[in-house]
Amino acid sequence: MSTRTALVEHLIARFPHIPREAVLKEDLLRTGIAFDVAGLSENETGDVKPKSYFIFSFDHRPLKELGEAALRRPPEEVALTGGPLELRRTTVSVRVNPESPYRIEAGPDGRLHLVLEQSPVADVELPPMPEYYRHRLSNGKSVMEIAPTIQWGYLIYLTVLRLCQYFGAKEECQFCDINHNWRQHKQAGRPYTGVKPVDEVIEALEIIDRFDTTRASHAYTLTGGSITSQVDGLGEAEFYGRYARAIEEAFPGRWIGKVVAQALPKEQAAVFKEHGIRIYHPNYEVWDEAIFARVSPGKERYVGRSQWHRRILDAREIFGARYVIPNFVAGVEMAKPYGFDGIDEAIRSTGEGLDYFMSRGVTPRFTTWCPEPTTPLGKANPDGAPLEYHVRLLEVYRETLEKYGHQAPPGYGPPGAGNAVFSVSSFMDVLAPDEEYEGDLPTGAAGMSTGGMACDGQSSASSAGL
Ligand code: SF4
Repeated sequence: MSTRTALVEHLIARFPHIPREAVLKEDLLRTGIAFDVAGLSENETGDVKPKSYFIFSFDHRPLKELGEAALRRPPEEVALTGGPLELRRTTVSVRVNPESPYRIEAGPDGRLHLVLEQSPVADVELPPMPEYYRHRLSNGKSVMEIAPTIQWGYLIYLTVLRLCQYFGAKEECQFCDINHNWRQHKQAGRPYTGVKPVDEVIEALEIIDRFDTTRASHAYTLTGGSITSQVDGLGEAEFYGRYARAIEEAFPGRWIGKVVAQALPKEQAAVFKEHGIRIYHPNYEVWDEAIFARVSPGKERYVGRSQWHRRILDAREIFGARYVIPNFVAGVEMAKPYGFDGIDEAIRSTGEGLDYFMSRGVTPRFTTWCPEPTTPLGKANPDGAPLEYHVRLLEVYRETLEKYGHQAPPGYGPPGAGNAVFSVSSFMDVLAPDEEYEGDLPTGAAGMSTGGMACDGQSSASSAGL
């Protein structure tokens, strides 16, 4: 394709059963967005919710090369509507790329637009500053630093350990910049707490609970790096579990509790459940055996792929199959030097993994790979994976989900184009809308007893051009 516009139009026309919003969203996530100053926030003092850097950088350049966007943070997300494609509301996580063909800029009337190769694509809404971000903890730390929210306020993202003990080239996942991101924020003098004290997390949640009067926040995710030895004298299950215990004691059933952790032995994973966690994400990152060993060498070394998969399935007995939702990073299976050369092979492999888990009751989900420049895979593949791969993955994901009669995974908000708030991939945008959606899971004490083996609308694409 001679231009990006032509590529996007071509794929929208070729895959009319995939919502056009999802095609555009995948391209934005894999490519990033350039920002005019008008699209940036005034950090924590303005009316726009700034990007919190909630775990990884999710940028295409290091902080020091982002220009004005390093001084005035970009927004956490953007919501796109209208334009020549008549887009339904589409929430997209912000990944900054000063070289992107996509740019957010103000028109003559001062309103923001997403522009692709000089042509407007969509109207842009920036997330409003939530009231809870305007308040600080008693020690002066900001709520954004301790308990940021994403997905338009749906999810409180608690990266309570900002470093991973898989360390260095032989252990770190080759797509992951968690350790680099911690370093770059420290070097820039930004507050970026390595291990978040439990009482700070609880105080930040008290502020959110008090000021989130519309109850937009529905879930929290406890996450951070893998723990191969100990942190604060605790192994991984007890380390992350202690936060869940404190949260559930302070706010019983207020939010859906989720944890992203290693695939732990059954008795350790059960600690999460005992402390009130309802959804477990033991992320398998990539399906193919040889690629997994190269791309996630720490996971291969400390646990091993087959053991990892076995533990995912074992966790069904603790949480219920529907509530075990492992993530993979969509696109790394095509990253050089380890990945597949062809889209057909990559889709076949990833589809095999989806079939393996979904036929056993487990519904994986995925994030769209951002090729961060300080990671080995980002360096070698600055353009990420082909857009066609991402669109075909959405197709096979939905087909497999329907084949096994699964519903949209719980803990991600409403499904369907125009409804979805999950912002780091469009897997929720391509699922059928749920007209009766009133929330993913019951909250309160009744919801806490969920267990057993049960466990996270599109219309056809318009033929309109960009
Ligand atoms: S386990 Fe892998 S993806 Fe997760 S934080 Fe560690 S290096 Fe990053």
